[in-house]
Amino acid sequence: MFAKKNVCSFDILLPALEQAMDAIILIDDQYNVLFFNNRAESLWGYNRHEVIGRQLAIPGIRIADQGKSVCAEHMGKRYDVQITHKEGQRIWVSLALSKIEADGKYYSMGILHPTGINAHPEEDNPIRAQTHFDALTSLPNRRHQYQHIDELLKGPEQQRFAIFSIDLVHFKEVNTTLGYSAGDTVLIKVARRLEEQLYKSAFISRSNSDSFVLVTTECNAERAIVLAEKILSLFRVPFDVSGFALDINASIGISLYPENGADRDTLLRHANIATHSNRMPASGGYLFFTADMDQVDQERMILAAALKSAIANNKLRLHYQPQIWLKDGKLYGVEALARWNDPILGDVSPAKFITLAEEIGEIEAIGRWSLLEACRQMAEWRRDGVPIPVVSVNLSPINFYNDSLPEYINGLLTEFQLPPECLTVEITEGVMMDQRPETEKVICAVRDLGVGLSMDDFGTGYSSLSRLAHLPMTELKIDQSFMQDFQEGSKTKAIASTVVRIGQSLQQMVVAEGVETENQKLQLQALQCNIAQGFLYSKALKAADLVSWVARLH
Ligand code: C2E
Ligand code: MG
Ligand code: MG
Repeated sequence: MFAKKNVCSFDILLPALEQAMDAIILIDDQYNVLFFNNRAESLWGYNRHEVIGRQLAIPGIRIADQGKSVCAEHMGKRYDVQITHKEGQRIWVSLALSKIEADGKYYSMGILHPTGINAHPEEDNPIRAQTHFDALTSLPNRRHQYQHIDELLKGPEQQRFAIFSIDLVHFKEVNTTLGYSAGDTVLIKVARRLEEQLYKSAFISRSNSDSFVLVTTECNAERAIVLAEKILSLFRVPFDVSGFALDINASIGISLYPENGADRDTLLRHANIATHSNRMPASGGYLFFTADMDQVDQERMILAAALKSAIANNKLRLHYQPQIWLKDGKLYGVEALARWNDPILGDVSPAKFITLAEEIGEIEAIGRWSLLEACRQMAEWRRDGVPIPVVSVNLSPINFYNDSLPEYINGLLTEFQLPPECLTVEITEGVMMDQRPETEKVICAVRDLGVGLSMDDFGTGYSSLSRLAHLPMTELKIDQSFMQDFQEGSKTKAIASTVVRIGQSLQQMVVAEGVETENQKLQLQALQCNIAQGFLYSKALKAADLVSWVARLH
């Protein structure tokens, strides 16, 4: 707070500031730079004529509040912040902000003193960089964010503020499909977009991975909605990364002080719970925290603990769904689908527990267990003379990051004395698009064993035909979503026909998933699609039930 106001006239003030040893800027309540002294020119690399009359952003700091000049929370304080030099270097400066009155109006005055110059903060000033700013995006980090919220909580009692916890939807897929450096570029671009557009309204920080936190003062629910809409609008323009125009969406969870918590941890936790609420639309959006979400979060923790225990105690099961040749109705193979029945929670859908397993780091174990169990079952069927030609196992992209996967599969084939042709591994477009040579090596090594490679859910991810042709795939599965509205003249049918043609020209088997009606089957036959899988024939069955089903088919 200010002990006393600095009141004077510009005639006296400006020449004095020009002579100062530190860089000095004056900003009006619209953020426009009014004055930029000699030292500021050399510190920033800009000539004052390039800056005066324009707006200036200093990440993490709101220099002014509309109509109030220096933003209340920053007044009279000193900050270690980074500014961007005209040539692009990030410069650490110590910034002191104060309010002055000149010629009857209020202005913000920033006095800046360089503390180090570097492109990567950690190279030059490791302690400061690691303690206050995120090295990748240069945004304030979690520690800085904690300090900021703590200071707000120490402020006047009637002070209201809102916390926005922002997560990027499907960010993991960017990492897995385009690689980690593309993921990093997305994070940097998101940080810059938030910073450029919202520095006036919020403190912007990065918590971890793809998670950003914005804090804004004097914010009630209505103002929070306006800001949430604004944040979402920033994500409507695609991000240009590695030559792709990526549509990245955001999920925003909002907690309000004082309504949703009295302390920093509760407020952040509640905003985060809202971000991950199952009410959040799959394509992102915003939600305010409500007390019942807390309950859902606790349920998720219980589910995670139960899943870990089910995996450790071998309680998952595989069910098998038949795949049928469209030309003659004979059995082509079966797809193994994981099932989990918990004694207390009941049947938990794979959509739920596979996603959870990915989040809690258990998905690799599930993939390896599925391979083991499918091979064991296949060996049993072969021993009993059950005519099931091939079993397909779903793997997650994570399974392909471990270069021991081919060796593991080879070990199973040897242990259960199976020819490699009776096993197919299903991968998603995510793995296909991962251009890292290590992943490609693992995919090729699995194929070199003689095991089939199927591309699951084709048409739902970032497809690339050149990638499809490049990798040694043996099978293409048309995603079940294409079976909806599968009628003459529909767009989905046009896409499905194209996928069939692609498969044919690449000499891959084409499997249509989610076939439910006789009409869909007839149309697929007319398109000369090879194989159909879906409820028209059977849902996924227990191993024993499948044996009787197959007996009836023949
Ligand atoms: P997916 O591999 O695309 O499996 C096909 C899904 O479609 C299965 O859902 C299956 O039950 C469902 N389905 C089959 N026929 C029809 C139909 O005619 N109509 C409709 N509406 N749906 C049909 P499920 O079993 O719920 O599995 C969902 C997803 O979970 C699977 O999709 C797969 O991605 C994943 N998953 C299942 N088991 C495993 C596993 O062992 N490991 C891994 N990594 N993922 C698995
Ligand atoms: Mg599948
Ligand atoms: Mg599928």
